[in-house]
Amino acid sequence: MKAVLDHVGIAVKDLEGALRFYRDALGLEVEAPEDVPSQQVRAQFVPVGQPSDAGAVAGASLELLAATAPESPIAKFIEKRGPGLHHITLRVDDIHAALAQLRARGTRLVDNEPRPGAEGALVAFIHPSSAQGVLIELKQSPVGRVLSDPAAAAGPKGPALQENQKYTLGDFELISVSDGFFRLDGGSMFGVIPKTMWSQKTRPDERNRILLAMRPLVVRGSRTMIIDAGMGDKENEKFHEIYGVERKRHLDHTLAEAGLAAEDIDIVLASHLHFDHAGGFTVRDAAGRLRPRFPRAQYIVRRGEWEDATHPSVRTRASYLLDNYVPLAEAGVLQLVDDDQTIMPGVKVRRTGGHTQHHQMILIESGGKTAAFVADLIPTAAHVPDVWVMGYDLYPLDTMAAKKQFMPEAIDKQMLVFFEHDPVIAAGYLQEEDGKRRVRLET
Ligand SMILES: [Zn+2]
Ligand SMILES: [Zn+2]
Repeated sequence: MKAVLDHVGIAVKDLEGALRFYRDALGLEVEAPEDVPSQQVRAQFVPVGQPSDAGAVAGASLELLAATAPESPIAKFIEKRGPGLHHITLRVDDIHAALAQLRARGTRLVDNEPRPGAEGALVAFIHPSSAQGVLIELKQSPVGRVLSDPAAAAGPKGPALQENQKYTLGDFELISVSDGFFRLDGGSMFGVIPKTMWSQKTRPDERNRILLAMRPLVVRGSRTMIIDAGMGDKENEKFHEIYGVERKRHLDHTLAEAGLAAEDIDIVLASHLHFDHAGGFTVRDAAGRLRPRFPRAQYIVRRGEWEDATHPSVRTRASYLLDNYVPLAEAGVLQLVDDDQTIMPGVKVRRTGGHTQHHQMILIESGGKTAAFVADLIPTAAHVPDVWVMGYDLYPLDTMAAKKQFMPEAIDKQMLVFFEHDPVIAAGYLQEEDGKRRVRLET
């Protein structure tokens, strides 16, 4: 069983007194307190761990627990044993399997079956008599739910620094790199889904925007390809303010961490030409001229997308910014492809439509395995259900149809699916159980 420390619960007599130590004396950041009426406690989380996206939801925290009524379990605990360590919560991948394993070894359990905990998690307690006097809680996070919670990724000090995520797929090395973060209106990101539902998966900021990542994908095989290139650095302060752009760590950094320079890229492949995907295709040189960002690369764009992007309408012109791609044609590095085809051995494009009429996804195959870079077809792990479609999509019914077709295939073939805009999950495997889809980080 693999278990990760989720949090340590501490029973306190009063929260204010506890905060004088944890917040004021230690100087730790604290989150807003939360009431749990069913337990008659008020809980205050104090994050003390490093958020990471390598399978963890967020860093570990301390949970200060104060009773809100005399008959609260916490009040009884303090009465009996005084304030102090109350429980330790370990996060496991499969709580049913964990309980079965414990039962088989004769461990005394408080909960024989998992029960629903906060925020859709499943929890179960192990009796202290089996754990050297410590009450241990097991917790299984609702994968694809909390994992896609940007607030969990962001932590109190803004978006977490994320490492490149590397995957081996047959003969290919796939590296999910980052061009930083930006923010879009939460309502627009989830179309017809009510805020009461989507806000459970991702917490909007005071302007109702949600945090999104920009994660281009490097495909290293006999040649080196990058799919999409983030937003780039040509936009002004006003643009950065509107979109809440955070690019302290951007594509130059993450490519360097992957051991790559702009000159190493042979092929740049576009899913589509919106600014958050194609902004990094060009740069402005010292003389102010626009030129291709990757000097040796051939840039490959779908012809229909090119036509639409170079003739934006009132509806599309906020996303199609000509400086991002017109200079590619002028520099003679642009190659337009007309239909679904192989771009380099093992890498195919497939039109999805929906988001834009000629939006395409990229399928990568090697050694009997398949990865899918689905771009804005499924921008985050929260967009896995068919009807969770962006309001930004020009043809939402086509998006739904494309998802309906793709999902069973992705589940069947156990495809590694990349989520270009998810601030926490770079990629995962789709699963369906009882009609509910989930994202798992491992097969
Ligand atoms: Zn887009
Ligand atoms: Zn996008």
